[in-house]
Amino acid sequence: MIGTIFNLECFMNMKIFVLTTLTYFLLTMTAEAQDREYRKLNAFEQQVILRKGTERPFTGEFYLTREKGTYHCKQCDAPLYRSSDKFDAGCGWPSFDDEIKDAVLRVPDSDSHRTEIVCAHCKGHLGHVFTGERFTAKNTRHCVNSVSLVFVPDTTEMKVEGN
Ligand SMILES: [Zn+2]
Repeated sequence: MIGTIFNLECFMNMKIFVLTTLTYFLLTMTAEAQDREYRKLNAFEQQVILRKGTERPFTGEFYLTREKGTYHCKQCDAPLYRSSDKFDAGCGWPSFDDEIKDAVLRVPDSDSHRTEIVCAHCKGHLGHVFTGERFTAKNTRHCVNSVSLVFVPDTTEMKVEGN
């Protein structure tokens, strides 16, 4: 009788162990699958996108660009901004007065006065958003690190222009 109870307990413990191990492997596999979707970031990209750093002004790839197209998230490739919403604020970072619908999240910055902007999909750091500066009619400036972005030129528009 004692032996039976012991075996039953043993069996239950084994079951819990197996279930825990399986859950652990499933979670690890899911995390790895998500990693594969994301672009591998170099050290500087990690500093800005993952650790909320800021690139030096007038040094980024896109602060002066005017080409037609879409700016995507460097990490997860979600489309974030259209070139038609880009303007030159003279601040040394790419500036946009609007985002692609639901693509960008606004969160209070840890400095307690600015508003941080992050990619709604992967939560990668983009920069900060400011309002009330009257640069454009929309009165909004998304101040974005070039290194958080990838530019995808609009080839259809280029073709139309060529015709
Ligand atoms: Zn993203």
